[in-house]
Amino acid sequence: MQTTVLEQYRTYTPKPFTKDERDRVTILFGGLHWRAERLLQGVFSNMGYRAQVLPTASREDLLTGREVADIGQCCPTSFTTGNLVNFLRGEAKRIGGDEVARRYVYITAGSCGACRFGQYHQSYELALRNTGLEAFRMFLLAQDGLDQGAMNGGGLDINMPFTMGAVWAILCADVVQDLEYQVRPYEVVAGQTDQVVRESVEYLHEAFRMRPHRGQKWGSLLWHLTTDYFVKALREVRRRFDAIEVDRLRVKPVVKITGEFYLQTVEGDPNYNIHRWLEAEGAEVSPAVVAVWLDYLMRLPIQGFEEYVGIDRYARLKIAALRTLQKLYGWSYNRLRDALGGIPHELPDQYELRRLAAPYFHHRLSGGEGDMLVGKALWAYLRKKAHMTCELSPYACMPNTMSIGAMAGVIGRYPDLLYAPLEIKGDAEVHALSRCQMILTEAKKRAQREYEEVLEQTGLTPERARAYLDAHPEMRRATYRVPHQGVAGTAANLILHLARRRNGA
Ligand code: SF4
Repeated sequence: MQTTVLEQYRTYTPKPFTKDERDRVTILFGGLHWRAERLLQGVFSNMGYRAQVLPTASREDLLTGREVADIGQCCPTSFTTGNLVNFLRGEAKRIGGDEVARRYVYITAGSCGACRFGQYHQSYELALRNTGLEAFRMFLLAQDGLDQGAMNGGGLDINMPFTMGAVWAILCADVVQDLEYQVRPYEVVAGQTDQVVRESVEYLHEAFRMRPHRGQKWGSLLWHLTTDYFVKALREVRRRFDAIEVDRLRVKPVVKITGEFYLQTVEGDPNYNIHRWLEAEGAEVSPAVVAVWLDYLMRLPIQGFEEYVGIDRYARLKIAALRTLQKLYGWSYNRLRDALGGIPHELPDQYELRRLAAPYFHHRLSGGEGDMLVGKALWAYLRKKAHMTCELSPYACMPNTMSIGAMAGVIGRYPDLLYAPLEIKGDAEVHALSRCQMILTEAKKRAQREYEEVLEQTGLTPERARAYLDAHPEMRRATYRVPHQGVAGTAANLILHLARRRNGA
């Protein structure tokens, strides 16, 4: 007779990573876009750690993730699991499995959220067991703690200076990325923007690596909020962008990227290289900055306290304190935007996103991006921030499936809203891109129509507009800010702006 031995479930606990190991152990991390990862690497180095960015996940990583962990998991889990496993396997071949476990640790964000995100580390653990690398150590970073203290063994200390550095690195990477995507489609010399961005990111990496240390707790928070250290660094980046000549009279549809956090943030196979593909198809991309997600994380506890008003006597006080913190955050982001000439887009107001999404999606459904996907699509449409929204929807993602269902109601109410939800599962690229192309064709027509309408409205012709720009070379610089004039396209906004300038308004 066969006996079955039942083992009780135990949550994953890594073996300790001690302080003494810091100078010989490399911390692996990844999952964002390359600019943010490079700046974060500077922060790790500034805090005395050795850190290495994992390569961007590839299609092979997706297949590995499906093979070594749960096949039914959402595709970002498969991509990131396979990515880690393939890197470690490669290293194990080179130096052996025991040495890999000694030389590397992995750090990733974790959560106890309503979706797969709460189980990522279990997927990693299963995958490592299935690969014979169970001795490898992983550490989870909570998303909601500024000062999380030392991890098991004390080798990794998620303290206030580290968290503040990481947040500011993300914000700086965001504003640079946003500027880059507004410049590249209009650059006169092909490839110049990419070169300036590469140099700028290296310059900022150095600024983060050399960041002064001011205080261990609230002193560090205060310093980050008040210093002009990062503003100065970004002014230097602006000076570099200044050398790029642009032709903003090229008529292009603006495509807002939304979707699940990982898929909208990375640039590569995990989202079919959608950013570059859209640009190659003639679009201007409005990327999804990580700063919006951090703002959303601040909204969540505020919403929680709002429901305790009348029950918890300090609820209003807690709301006021968190709202103040959120305002300071928005103010800090705007300072960084201003250092780049105010060109990077402003953050959408979280409470406006909630209000817009409210008829279709309840704000307490907080899995994935919660009500933000619906809110952002409506915000971009109603405020004329983009001609179309491209939503990157992961295969097997429960929260995203709910958003797409809710969007059916939105489209019913606003049939004119151009919305392309693309199911991303790694192996259906042609389907996803051709679907996107259909909506993009309509977006191109809209951008052209909008441009012709503003020409007619202002009485300008493209030739006269160009002659005016030739007479004002400062307006042909990448750092010249064209204010938003209530239309979506860059060329249309420029025509309206030129008309006002000519009329002395
Ligand atoms: S939001 Fe969706 S894709 Fe992202 S971790 Fe959760 S289930 Fe997976």
